[in-house]
Amino acid sequence: MLDIQGFLIKAQAVVCPQCNEVFATPDLAKMTKLTCDSQVETDLHRVLPDPFIRSTFVAVCPACLYAWWFAAFAPHYIVADLVPETPTIEFPKKFALAVLSGRNNGAHALDRAMLALNGCWCAREGFVLAGTQDSPEAVAENTRWLNLAKQELEEALSDQEWEGNRNRYQYILGEVLRQLGEFEAALKYFESVDRRSMLPRQLVVHQIKMAQAQHSHPDFLPPHLVEMIFLPKTQVVETLPEQPEPEQTSQSIAQTSIPQTQSSAPAEFINASTPHLIPA
Ligand SMILES: [Zn+2]
Repeated sequence: MLDIQGFLIKAQAVVCPQCNEVFATPDLAKMTKLTCDSQVETDLHRVLPDPFIRSTFVAVCPACLYAWWFAAFAPHYIVADLVPETPTIEFPKKFALAVLSGRNNGAHALDRAMLALNGCWCAREGFVLAGTQDSPEAVAENTRWLNLAKQELEEALSDQEWEGNRNRYQYILGEVLRQLGEFEAALKYFESVDRRSMLPRQLVVHQIKMAQAQHSHPDFLPPHLVEMIFLPKTQVVETLPEQPEPEQTSQSIAQTSIPQTQSSAPAEFINASTPHLIPA
């Protein structure tokens, strides 16, 4: 069992749903709890201290290279040491393979969008760990991932068939566009966000101002917004105009990244930290 700052990772034997190969892949056995002081960015994802942790959200079959959310691979009773290991590839590339598998298998664009976003965050976590997050390489890779996420999110939102928190994904696409420097388009999405997103109005207004001021850098959520969005004690006081419908609690959104299309998606739609960016 590997312990990375309280995140416990172990090897687990699983079965590939495509070719039935049994192989070993890292399994995130325990996550640390999200608190108000956790780092969560304004695109609502929790920053993890090591890209290896996020990479466990996806498994890659060594026999057929099928890649998808870990939970889509059934566990196998055999000891993990006795079966082939998942291929050794760079952590973010697991998400790229999963997007590819999703396209090949007709998976919904929302799942592919979430995989692309997780690839973006995973890559960034790697650069932060290496202290090279401002390097031209990091910036270029970030842009590639954001463009992929944009493409998949636009496709997902153009499909009117699925239900779930569409409004929150409009907000997230707004954030993706803002970080890409596409401010006009970002504003269009931010301004379409309403109470159904279950997001504090203060956050949306702040991000609109950021886009208007043409700021494209990622931001952390201040602790009080992490609490309001992900750890509500009672009722969220300052929501967008009306009260949200109880389709899903903020808590559950915090812990399952893809509301309705795929139950197999992992956690991680959360997080943030420094209290200075969004005025109270
Ligand atoms: Zn396979």
